[in-house]
Amino acid sequence: MLIGLQEALAYAEKKNVGLAAVNTPFFEGLLATIDVGERTGVPIILQFAQVHESIVSIEDIGPAMVELAKRSEAPFVLHVDHGENIDYIRTGLEIGFNSCMIDGSLLDYDENVRVTREVVEMATERGIGVEGEIGMMTGNENGDPSQGVADASLYTDPEVAAAFVRATGVTCLAASFGTVHGMYRRKPELNYELISQLRAATGVPIVMHGGSGLSAEEYQECIRRGVRKINYYTYAAKAAYDAIRPLLDDENVFLFSNLAAAARKGVEADVEAFVNILNSTGE
Ligand SMILES: [Zn+2]
Repeated sequence: MLIGLQEALAYAEKKNVGLAAVNTPFFEGLLATIDVGERTGVPIILQFAQVHESIVSIEDIGPAMVELAKRSEAPFVLHVDHGENIDYIRTGLEIGFNSCMIDGSLLDYDENVRVTREVVEMATERGIGVEGEIGMMTGNENGDPSQGVADASLYTDPEVAAAFVRATGVTCLAASFGTVHGMYRRKPELNYELISQLRAATGVPIVMHGGSGLSAEEYQECIRRGVRKINYYTYAAKAAYDAIRPLLDDENVFLFSNLAAAARKGVEADVEAFVNILNSTGE
């Protein structure tokens, strides 16, 4: 079933847990994540990032995401991740997505406010929640490691974040506090105190991007500080890769469909472990 972003965040606040927000730009990953939702019964955000257009288009996989989520008895949010402009987000909403992110973080502040407000106005008419972003995270959702390290000078300033939320009316906010997209080249230095300050100053749930590769304790401390949505892709996609690797040397395996089935199992185990970590912070 579909639930709204606001409803899912309210659940996470009440239970004091984090929501797994899993990018599924390949079908086996999508099936696996739906299975995890059904087994755990907790809300999961299925998302598609605009940058994944290089793998598959939202027009092709989006309807499958919508149909599988609606058909399931488990609760899912369908989220357009890192929408770069209002037209792309509108395309996602027309397909049936019911939540979105507008990423204006590369724009200057005033321009970021302008485009984010425009998306909030469109989304509000449809009762849809919007994630905005302020501050920059390096790398991207395509696993591009960039430098693989966070630059403290790019951390989000809590007062700027508070002004941004007031000016735009976003439902939740992606901010920079030490994580990066893609694979980590060295251990991330998370600024927990900054998360607490961002949560207190903005009054909205904080979103973690670059959520792959932290320890269970690190995720859980971020959740305690006010992170409610954790974006996840790189490690799930790597789990699919790791699952098929041994089969490549097996002379009895020569059908791609066998690899696809193994990939699905690999993602399922990885995402289920991730979901369980995020949901074991409550009492
Ligand atoms: Zn991101």
